[in-house]
Amino acid sequence: MSEGNLSSLDVAIKQLEIAAEMLNLEPGICEYLKTPKRSVIVAVPIRRDNGEINVFKGFRVQHTDVRGPYKGGIRYHPDVTLEGVTALAMWMTWKCAVVEIPYGGAKGGVKCNPKVLSVGELERITRRYTTMILNFIGPYQDVPAPDVYTDAQTMAWIMDTYSQFKGYMVPEIVTGKPLHLEGSEGREEATALGLTYCINEATKHLKMKSKNATVAVQGFGKVGFNAARLLYDQGCKIIALSDSKGGIYNPNGINPAKVNEHKKKTNSVMNFEGCKNITNEELLELKCDVLVPAAMENQITERNAGNIKTRLLAEGANGPTTPEASKILTEKGIFMIPDILANSGGVTVSYFEWVQNLHREHWTIEKVYSRLESKMLKAFKDVFDAMRKYETDMRTAAFMLAVERVAKAHKSLGLWP
Ligand code: NAD
Repeated sequence: MSEGNLSSLDVAIKQLEIAAEMLNLEPGICEYLKTPKRSVIVAVPIRRDNGEINVFKGFRVQHTDVRGPYKGGIRYHPDVTLEGVTALAMWMTWKCAVVEIPYGGAKGGVKCNPKVLSVGELERITRRYTTMILNFIGPYQDVPAPDVYTDAQTMAWIMDTYSQFKGYMVPEIVTGKPLHLEGSEGREEATALGLTYCINEATKHLKMKSKNATVAVQGFGKVGFNAARLLYDQGCKIIALSDSKGGIYNPNGINPAKVNEHKKKTNSVMNFEGCKNITNEELLELKCDVLVPAAMENQITERNAGNIKTRLLAEGANGPTTPEASKILTEKGIFMIPDILANSGGVTVSYFEWVQNLHREHWTIEKVYSRLESKMLKAFKDVFDAMRKYETDMRTAAFMLAVERVAKAHKSLGLWP
């Protein structure tokens, strides 16, 4: 059946239905899990630098908190919609369950184009948005974090706004803060590091050499750049990189740190010395050992899945692959490390940051890395074992594991009143 123009929410619901059917889940629980517990839409008016008033639309969707407080990033992007944020909130629920951290799923966003906004305008958007959702967030209620086009500075503004209302400093209200403001060691690279742990586990199972493995990475932000850098440092050959403007390709290998310097000067990875410019679509279809989508949703669909030539797909981004594409990749024998496992290192270190903040502690980088590694290896093993047990693919196994854990919590809590 053709997928047509599936939205991210259609994809998220389909993934839940597949897992629920295989688990023989009570239909009522499945219905419950399809519906977010709360969706907030807010107006975010700010005065622009030129004196005009502009009103942006902001969202915070809280999917379920049966396993703990809501947790999830805040995205600033022109394509932010309520449906998209709802899908991302659901994926957060499953991710926290797969990696066994005591959180539920949430996500937020403001529909805006940060590329045309000044720092002052971004600060005003962030503070106004925080004020508008203030009653729905809290250290034991809902803890935001960075996502696409938001960063440690955005989190510092959220923390300050929330704290101003409370009258005292509340660092545990957000994670992904600057290191000098109660942020955690290792948070910046946590998602990418977790991803590399998963890639290394997968290459062992596939009997692939991770040294000299050829790697293509779509997206050159917090996840994509750090993944490329870490994989390069461990001896992989990075053959392609990209950002929203397009990509670069060099079969002899690219040094991501040098591309980062180039991007800082030119605002794009494109036109990097010694590389051929390519499109994002071409990057996805390159022959490589490891493909890392680390940008946006719905990049690998039934339209291009047949042309994907990687051996291993490691999803840094959330929701980059549609269910139909996932089926095609499985039939082609491509091993997938699904998003809810592959990029769960970020929320794991966010959890560590929250725990440190609640205890007013600061862990060493060694402690953060070693705890992250054990969490990721356990999660990878759990999903791998479930894949064998249910005789399915890694994605379906990860969703089954997560949905089962969340459904179990639902059942024990019951429905009240
Ligand atoms: P980011 O803002 O730091 O970087 C995003 C990158 O993607 C940028 O290089 C941008 O140029 C590129 N990009 C945007 N649109 C694109 C397009 N259409 N095609 C190709 N490239 C495009 O964001 P990030 O934090 O690195 O997030 C990337 C993905 O990883 C998202 O799906 C996000 O939800 C997911 N993720 C992030 C974290 C985290 O800790 N930051 C954790 C888990 C998952």
